[in-house]
Amino acid sequence: MSVGPVVVIGAGLAGTEAAWQVAQAGVPVHLIEMRPLRRSPAHHSSEFAELVCSNSFGALSSDRAAGLLQEELRRLGSLVIRTADAHAVPAGGALAVDRGRYSAALTEILQRHPLVTIERREQMDLPDADQITVLATGPLTSDALANHLRAFTGRDDCHFFDAASPIVDGETIDMKKAFRASRYDKGDADYINCPMDQPRYKDFLGALLSAEQAELKDFEKNSATFFEGCLPIEELARRGEDTMRYGPLKPIGLWDPRWGDVNDRDVRRARRAHAVVQLRQEDRDGRLWNLVGFQTNLKWGEQKRVLRMIPGLEQAEFVRFGVMHRNTFLEAPELLHPTLQFRTRERLLAAGQITGTEGYAAAVAGGWLAGTNAARLALGQSTFDLPPTTMIGALTHFVSEAPSGKFQPMPPNFGLLPALPERIRDKRRRYGAYRDRALNDLLLATQKQESVDVACPA
Ligand SMILES: Cc1cc2nc3c(=O)[nH]c(=O)nc-3n(C[C@H](O)[C@H](O)[C@H](O)COP(=O)(O)OP(=O)(O)OC[C@H]3O[C@@H](n4cnc5c(N)ncnc54)[C@H](O)[C@@H]3O)c2cc1C
Repeated sequence: MSVGPVVVIGAGLAGTEAAWQVAQAGVPVHLIEMRPLRRSPAHHSSEFAELVCSNSFGALSSDRAAGLLQEELRRLGSLVIRTADAHAVPAGGALAVDRGRYSAALTEILQRHPLVTIERREQMDLPDADQITVLATGPLTSDALANHLRAFTGRDDCHFFDAASPIVDGETIDMKKAFRASRYDKGDADYINCPMDQPRYKDFLGALLSAEQAELKDFEKNSATFFEGCLPIEELARRGEDTMRYGPLKPIGLWDPRWGDVNDRDVRRARRAHAVVQLRQEDRDGRLWNLVGFQTNLKWGEQKRVLRMIPGLEQAEFVRFGVMHRNTFLEAPELLHPTLQFRTRERLLAAGQITGTEGYAAAVAGGWLAGTNAARLALGQSTFDLPPTTMIGALTHFVSEAPSGKFQPMPPNFGLLPALPERIRDKRRRYGAYRDRALNDLLLATQKQESVDVACPA
């Protein structure tokens, strides 16, 4: 049976992996990459899967979130991770690569593959609906295509700038200091609230004002000026001692049930906290919590130091730090299935950072799944997703099922995985248990898929 080519748009981390998976399944691929004819503001070369900033894929050990994701990809036959392993440089427990050699090797492998055709041009729009296509144009998707995507999805919230608050693992919040409540008791007690007295608030403010900022890239400075309505928390702090208390740290209407059942307004006013940091649930299962209004440009180490001064967050583990940078991503919970197919056009798939995952290994993971499913569509087979107990499955289920409206990109982290059947207090053992379950379930899922394919050949 001869099958038509799958189109992959973008030869970054996700597109390179996707193209390889399609070709390895015996399906021709037409890979379209705009570099070097059109440059992105962050890429420097014309090679494939370029690492635009750090040369590290994150921790190597599989009892760390990034390491587990790499290990799953290794077991699934990822080309990008295999090539990263082959070009690794010493990096004290992380998978870091000689970026030039690694990218050159990947480019050559795809150029030599008999089923891969490469075209260097900017794709301005989506191909026809019946063309199986993987969209993998990343956080710096060219303007013409990004505008087309806005029109195609009918959504203005195809985001162009990522102003995200830090997210912490709910298990690491000290609930002896924090309390659950909604402002003025409206609805359920949906928020976690961390109250501060005046001396604590002043110390916190001082630390915010003196903390070190990350440098914005030139192309980001222009985008950042559009974001007056979403100011970094340190900028609010600079505007006056009480500005945060009239904004996201407003204490009014919040009452810790442990303060007793008091109705007298004066007593309530006298008792209430000087400021309150609120955390809002980020995932369906309530394992991840984001600090409301804390989008920030502070360096990551500084965020950890300063935000741990908030009562209740002294031991908090950050699964994602706050960022403010250029980042084109789709409102994936509205648009995508966990198979990475669009809900309204099932022959169109998305992969990589444009789906709202974050980080190099996560982009490769999206490329693996979208490429595998694109090939399956071309071969007349059913598409599949991976269980949310695996790190790849957890990421793809998160982006396609997260609460919509407040959707923000997510890196791999253990908070995304369903809770273990029993609570394990020791962190290393807990992460080891997540790893063992993930690798076991990955094996079962792939075996199950193989048996379905044998029983129901295309
Ligand atoms: C400035 C910056 C720094 C980052 N640093 C890190 C980091 O240090 N560590 C980390 O883990 N993550 C980092 N990330 C996040 C993310 O992991 C990377 O952006 C990663 O490269 C995403 O992979 P991708 O395949 O989705 O996109 P990309 O790797 O960017 O690939 C997209 C490809 O599509 C091409 N393209 C775009 N538009 C078109 C078009 N219209 N037609 C044809 N081709 C097109 C681009 O040229 C590019 O080759 C960073 C992101 C940015 C923006």
